[in-house]
Amino acid sequence: MRKRAAVLALILCAAAVLTAGGLTPFSQRNLKSAGQKTEVTALPESLSQEEGSSEEDTATAEKEDAGEKKDTEGEQSDETETSGDSQSVLEQAQTMYAQYDYDGAILLLKGQEDFTSNKDYMDLAARCQVARESLVEYPLEQITHVFFHTLIYDTSKAFDGDSDEGGYNQMMTTVDEFNKIIESMYEKGYVLVSPHDMATVSEDGTVSRGKIMLPEGKIPFVLSQDDVSYYHYMDGDGFASRLVLDENGQVKAEYIEDDGSVSVGNYDLVPILDDFIREHPDFSYHGRKGILAMTGYNGVLGYRTDIAYKTRENLQDDQKAFLDSHPDFDYDKEVAEATKVAEAMKASGWEFASHTWGHLNATDRSAEDLKTDNEKWEAYVAPILGKTDMIIFAFGADIGGWEGYSMDNEKFAYYKSRGYDYYCNVDSSQYFVQISDQYFRQGRRNLDGYRMYYNPDMLSDLFDVSQVFDPSRPTPVPEM
Ligand SMILES: [Zn+2]
Repeated sequence: MRKRAAVLALILCAAAVLTAGGLTPFSQRNLKSAGQKTEVTALPESLSQEEGSSEEDTATAEKEDAGEKKDTEGEQSDETETSGDSQSVLEQAQTMYAQYDYDGAILLLKGQEDFTSNKDYMDLAARCQVARESLVEYPLEQITHVFFHTLIYDTSKAFDGDSDEGGYNQMMTTVDEFNKIIESMYEKGYVLVSPHDMATVSEDGTVSRGKIMLPEGKIPFVLSQDDVSYYHYMDGDGFASRLVLDENGQVKAEYIEDDGSVSVGNYDLVPILDDFIREHPDFSYHGRKGILAMTGYNGVLGYRTDIAYKTRENLQDDQKAFLDSHPDFDYDKEVAEATKVAEAMKASGWEFASHTWGHLNATDRSAEDLKTDNEKWEAYVAPILGKTDMIIFAFGADIGGWEGYSMDNEKFAYYKSRGYDYYCNVDSSQYFVQISDQYFRQGRRNLDGYRMYYNPDMLSDLFDVSQVFDPSRPTPVPEM
């Protein structure tokens, strides 16, 4: 079964949405298709490349195009924080100001002992007071949510004519495309928010509407990235191999070159977006970044942290091959490193969601299966990424229809009892947001090769596909 899960991982969440035609409201039709589509496109695993034989000593190698771009910020060197951004109080307050957190900035500044004698503090606090007056509340039901998978860095490897090519072409986005997408969205006034801004949860599990206050013309949106595991079967296909911390404590991606050397840089979404927000802090609302939807069966963030790598029981062929080619594999070290990266990410605004441990189709699977699966997530993923109150359904396969969940929905009752309050599926409409006193729910739009090729008009609120679509993609993008 897990073999199947691994192979299907690439079909991923996008599969659910690919059939959707027009701007239909969220529908059962989409959900149903998720289950059916999955068997269509099993992708063989390619297990080439023994990865990172010399990770540590080559970690400084950098590639120019994606590698460390001028790190002008964070130059003060005695940083101790994992986020890598040690800022003065004034700099922190300036960032808060840029990110529309005027109350936070005022609170920080006024909390300084020398507030009344520091002209810079006083001036900035006054500007915050003025700016605060211009904020308007954004309607929560009109907030879109876009998602990606791990980005294709080397298109010549992803689109090399092998049997994986079609799936990558349909469901993945390239680094160049992603750069253009966020640039376009930034220019249009989009600002990253979190579902946690859109709804809050009290101690007893009651969900309440949140409040997003932005200047007129700004458009909040949510961004997520699925399956950031760097699954074995993607080895050698032009993707990053894992996320790491660089010498400044910033999250970067590793990329394994043809000669086996390891480059460190912006080879995937997380470091790209981090750098973009460092340059354009006003792209983020109160410091928010994106949400990573995580499985566990191949580990997390490129670290082989699942228990199977320790017990060596029930190993898949690709897991076995990995362990065979890494005789000095150290499970505890792997877990420790993954945890460090996850902590740095959370400190800088990233959030994690469960994508189920085994990339399960929650529509088709029984409540009992989902429970067994979630117990694995809690046992082997949560200790690394932290407990989460959010589920982003694999394949977009939801546990209920558009009418919503109720407590007589056994699957919902179970997930809710385990502390899940936020639920995301996949939906092609511009926005689908549902907030009850028991849960928050949002649809997500896939910004991938399939959608760009077949429905460019459905993306025109975000970017112009003709300016973004990567010319190195083989066309036509295969149909589903
Ligand atoms: Zn997925």
